[in-house]
Amino acid sequence: MDLPKLAIAALGGTVSMQARHVGEGVIPTVSGETLLTTVPELKNLARVTVETLGLHPSASLNFDFLLSVLHWANYQVENGATGVVITQGTDTLEETAAFFDYLWSHHAPLILTGAMRSASQVGADGPANLLDACRVALAQNSRCRGVQVVMSGQIHHANTVRKTDSLALQAFSSPLVGPVGMLVEGTVRYLREPFQRKLLPLPQQTTQAVALLESTLSADTLLLDNILELGYDGLVIAGFGAGHVSEQWADAVETIAKKIPVLIATRTGSGPTAQSSYGFTGSEMDLIRRGALMAGFLCPRKARILLWLLVGCQRQDELAFFLAQD
Ligand code: GLU
Repeated sequence: MDLPKLAIAALGGTVSMQARHVGEGVIPTVSGETLLTTVPELKNLARVTVETLGLHPSASLNFDFLLSVLHWANYQVENGATGVVITQGTDTLEETAAFFDYLWSHHAPLILTGAMRSASQVGADGPANLLDACRVALAQNSRCRGVQVVMSGQIHHANTVRKTDSLALQAFSSPLVGPVGMLVEGTVRYLREPFQRKLLPLPQQTTQAVALLESTLSADTLLLDNILELGYDGLVIAGFGAGHVSEQWADAVETIAKKIPVLIATRTGSGPTAQSSYGFTGSEMDLIRRGALMAGFLCPRKARILLWLLVGCQRQDELAFFLAQD
């Protein structure tokens, strides 16, 4: 029987990291081809194409590079790949997953994975995560689910997954909703039905800048007051609680929202923003009145990705549609 085609790309991150010399910190050095040698079982599951598209710590990935990775992934599917797996650093995985998910128009799965322990560490989790990710990418029941993150035997959807622990092996979770599926004895099991995703075309420009600022107690307005002059095209605020800012920030938001889109998310790490509960100055009702939009369940970082992509295809007027929960 002909095995299905699977495409794997390595971008770097801890999964690809090793120390050059004893006592030195780990850096990305392990190629995709070498990663593949740690999962010999894979040759019984698929015909694998592997490429090392980069060896970066994920903090240094950028949107232009991600668009070139997307181009590569599109090409793989158009040329017969059943699924695509990308290995990368976990620090920005929640953002790259959201980025790809808005742009991934195939039924074929695009699966992201990484590791919390480097390639040379005892108990390295990279090989197990990679094998799990490949199983998910090859599974028939993974089709039409967009972009997913596979870590520690769990499957998380791109729009809910967050890195919620800095160093723990179990570093990823989807607050409120939990994983969308899991691997049970090597079998891919889903706990929820796929949902209708909202897709965007490729951005026509990539020079737009969207700032992300966090509300903090007694914060000054220096950065806010200069956002427009600095040339930003959009602003996301990680607000207090259900999406609130101080009175001083509320005034600044009103001025900014007259010129560029302003999106208010919650800095709490879980739960949605409110729409119609609080009426004090700087509350969500006040900020909506002043021209801001509330990010709902989108975390601040994913809200920034959405706004950047919308501005990039001149569809920022559709922000409310993309934020609507239906
Ligand atoms: N813990 C991170 C990782 O899993 C650090 C490096 C990075 O994100 O590239 O890869």
